[in-house]
Amino acid sequence: MRKVNRNKDVNSVEAADNPEQSAQPVQPAQESAGSNSEPEDPGMFVLPGDPIGATEEFRAGDQTYESAGNIYATVTGTVKTTAEDRTIAVIPSTSTPPVLHRGDVVIGQVTGLRDSLVLVTIAGLSGATDRAIPDVGSAVIHVSNIKKAYVKDISREFGLFDIVKARIGDLKNMRLDTAEPELGVMKALCSRCRTAMTKDGSKLICPECNQVETRKMSTEYRTVAN
Ligand code: ZN
Repeated sequence: MRKVNRNKDVNSVEAADNPEQSAQPVQPAQESAGSNSEPEDPGMFVLPGDPIGATEEFRAGDQTYESAGNIYATVTGTVKTTAEDRTIAVIPSTSTPPVLHRGDVVIGQVTGLRDSLVLVTIAGLSGATDRAIPDVGSAVIHVSNIKKAYVKDISREFGLFDIVKARIGDLKNMRLDTAEPELGVMKALCSRCRTAMTKDGSKLICPECNQVETRKMSTEYRTVAN
């Protein structure tokens, strides 16, 4: 597992990372977060799991993934489209990377499930203005930190590619905790067809194939209409 990058040379990483970035100024997150821009708008500020375009129109570029005809952001950042090859990508917002502390709430994506661990790639720090965190890498949620109740089957609490909100319980080993009501899965994808699932009471239903699943849902679970 990679260690948290807390040293100061993030600016040089940023400069080397995106040579094209200077051609298209990236808006500060706090100004564009409340924007009503349509998806597909270049420069739109997005969070992991936000739909940014359709596969009919675009090819999924960097920091995106495809699911059921839609393209979604995997990181917090701004949307960038390239006319020549019709790609749509997300440029991670790397300006003023915050230093992580124990107790901080982060947003991430589930990238693996084990018997007693959920692997999460941290994308950003949750707060008034969600900010991306470069180079943090993976974190884990141990089965005992998922919720207060006993967890028998981890696959009933998290699914692959789910977007989760979690608190950093142990910074050194990047252990996360989702026991609080507002923590847990913010957005779940159907395990059968990868469509974003809709909350229905304590369960989730797939609007495409009617699959019913459960998660350790956040009270802020986001149901997106698409
Ligand atoms: Zn489904």
